[in-house]
Amino acid sequence: MNIFFDVDYTLITWDVKLRPGVHEVFTKLREQGHTIYLWSGVGPRWEVVRRFELHEHVANCYWKPLYNHHARLDELGIEVMPDFVVDDHLEIVEAFPGTQIKEPAMPLDTDTEMWRVYDTIQAFLATRTLSGA
Ligand SMILES: [Mg+2]
Repeated sequence: MNIFFDVDYTLITWDVKLRPGVHEVFTKLREQGHTIYLWSGVGPRWEVVRRFELHEHVANCYWKPLYNHHARLDELGIEVMPDFVVDDHLEIVEAFPGTQIKEPAMPLDTDTEMWRVYDTIQAFLATRTLSGA
């Protein structure tokens, strides 16, 4: 699947710390053959990819459509269909299949949301397999 992750409050905290499990979960998803993209309402976030050394995991970074989500994919240069999205905003999760992620819990080392997201993706895949999709 093409899995799209939001950046702010999804992968990083308000003070630009990486939430726990990002490298581990990205590694596992890629081992399963998924392709990982980042998108953000404030633009492609290559600075986050660089800062946290996510290059090996992230295929591309895009602007995230904040309205007319499907119609604007083309205009924003998004050449692949998001099959699953992970976002702290419900709106984007209502526009595409996906899961809403809670903003990082404090203290940060107690935050387990990335693992919950991983499990949710596995459950989503199992459902698709059962339905023959
Ligand atoms: Mg966000």
